[in-house]
Formats: sequence, structure tokens, C-alpha cells
Amino acid sequence: MKRTNTILYLVVPCYNEEEVLHKSAAVLLDKLDRLIQAGTISDKSKILFINDGSKDSTWQIIYELTRQNSKYAGLSFSRNYGHQSAILAGMMAARSKADAVVTIDADLQQDIEALDQFLECYQNGCEIVYGVRNDRDTDGFFKKTTAGLFYKLMHVLGCQTITNHADYRLMSKKALDALSEFHETNLFLRGLIPTMGFQSDIVYFDVKEREAGQSKYTLKKMMTLAVDGITSMSTRPLQMIVILGFLTFLFSIGLFISCIVDWANGAVVAGWTTTVASTCLIGGITLLSQGIIGEYIGKIYMESKGRPRYIVDSMILRDAEDSAEEE
Ligand code: UDP
Ligand code: MG
Repeated sequence: MKRTNTILYLVVPCYNEEEVLHKSAAVLLDKLDRLIQAGTISDKSKILFINDGSKDSTWQIIYELTRQNSKYAGLSFSRNYGHQSAILAGMMAARSKADAVVTIDADLQQDIEALDQFLECYQNGCEIVYGVRNDRDTDGFFKKTTAGLFYKLMHVLGCQTITNHADYRLMSKKALDALSEFHETNLFLRGLIPTMGFQSDIVYFDVKEREAGQSKYTLKKMMTLAVDGITSMSTRPLQMIVILGFLTFLFSIGLFISCIVDWANGAVVAGWTTTVASTCLIGGITLLSQGIIGEYIGKIYMESKGRPRYIVDSMILRDAEDSAEEE
């Protein structure tokens, strides 16, 4: 049976997005209104902006938008917790009110018109719909190459990531309820959500240039997300250390036997270069292995503390008929 009268929440993470926010808010509201008028979604649908500890006037703009129109809602973190936490907070806040939630970036890079297909899949019974970009033409050479390598590595490590799917995605209330049962601190949603199963589908969309402002994903943030992605989804790097250690061990036994044979035959084994080269090699392998193990231990340490994943400072979520507001 087709799902109708869907209450849709658009969750929009924002970090220092003052340059683009007015335009994004207008474009998203226009799309929401068109969907309401077409009878595809309920008029209780909303756009929920998450202010991820912005240092500019992002929260002020969100606050003013919520004053102007009750279809806009806002949630503000106490500091910058990162894109993944912002999305999660938005989805969890929307869960009790919405039938379905779509997460979309604030910079209008992801084609909002793909929403029609997202909703069609949902209304035909899908619990999760993944947005997959058609190409990476808008990315620079560095981002394109590193992203390509990352997805290949994730597949080698046995993670079920969907290539070129970032966080443009629809989730039903049922899927969000299931997601709320995952309590891990190290979040990598695009790896975690595909492991949840459910009836799902893929929608392909075009990526545009950023409307205004610059990418908020610094190299450091990208690296952290990649390491979090690998360590929270796979323990295969630890198994690789065991294999590497075993191979080095076999090689050193061979080398040892060959040295003994040479020595027994009266040959002098060449000294300095081989000693330094092998010490450097073994030292490098040992440090790398310790680093990888350390990364997992660090993650266990953070998980064991069970600290909150984010702290909400203010929330504005008004229904048209009331003016409930928490601040
Ligand atoms: N973002 C966020 N917190 C951060 C970094 C980014 O909420 O610490 C938001 C940002 O405002 C945007 C989305 O995440 O809505 C994606 O970021 P961006 O467009 O800068 O990344 P890119 O498209 O360059 O990968
Ligand atoms: Mg972007």
C-alpha cells in the first residue's frame, strides 16, 4: 500500500554557512511548498537547520528564519562537533515528529529535485533511500583521487559503503528508530547505515558547484572522517598487521639461514648497509603497526567513556498552531 500524507523533515547541517544560508533556506522552502501543494507530503513538513557551533552569524540567521516561518526549525550545538554529529542530532530530533527525514548539505550542491525520486521510493515502501552522485566533476583533482582511493580501500577492508554516496539520504521513522539503538561515539553514518539492512534503493543525482562560501571540510576533517570510517567499520587492519608480521618473520628466518651458510663457507657478510636498512625497515613496520593498534585503543578509550556525542544548546521547533520553544 502506498504511503501518503508523509510528514517530511529536511535536516540541514550548517557550519559557518552565513554566505549561503538565505539562498538555501529559500530554495528548500520553495521545494517543500511545491511538494505540499502537489499533495506529495503533509503541510506539517519542516526544514530543520543544525548549527554545528558556527563562529559566524549562521545561528542568528536560522533564528530569524524560524521567526518568519514555522516551517523552519533550528537546533544549535554548544560547539563544533562535526558534520556526522550534526546530521545525527537532526535525525534524532526529527524522529518523534516526522515519517521520513532527508539529510542534505546547506550549500545546495546536491540536487534538491532528486527529492521527488526519494519520496517515490519511500512511498512505495523503502525505509532507506541512498543518494549517489552521478560524477565527481565538481571536485578538484586531490579530492577526486583521495575519495576514489578511500572507497576502494573500504571495499578491500570489507565495509559495505556505497561508492559516491555521502550523506544525502532518506530514512523512514522505522529506520531512524533502529539507528537510535546504535550508541557508538565514533560515527561514520555512511558506513553504518548500509549495515542496518531494510528495504532500500538508490537515487542518482547531479552535484553542482557550491552556491557560495567555501568547503567546510578541511583536510584534517577529511582525514579524521576517513580514519573514523575505517576503524569504526573494520578490524581488518589488525589482521593485516598479523600477516605483515608473519611475512617479516619468514623473511628474517630465510635471511638468518643464508647468513649462517655464508659464514660457514668462510664468507664475510656485508655489514653496515644491510644492518641499517633492515633496522629501518623493521623499525618502520613496528611503528606503523603500533600506530594502527594505538588508533583502535584510542577508539576503545573514547567509546568506554560513553560521553554524549553532542551537546544541544538551543532548539526551536514550533508547530504552526503552537509556539513551543526550548532554549
Ligand atoms: N558541516 C558541518 N560541520 C562541520 C563541517 C561541515 O555541519 O564541521 C556541514 C556544512 O555546513 C555543509 C555540510 O556539512 O552543510 C557539508 O560540508 P561542505 O559542503 O563544506 O563539504 P564538501 O561538500 O566540500 O565535501
Ligand atoms: Mg559541499
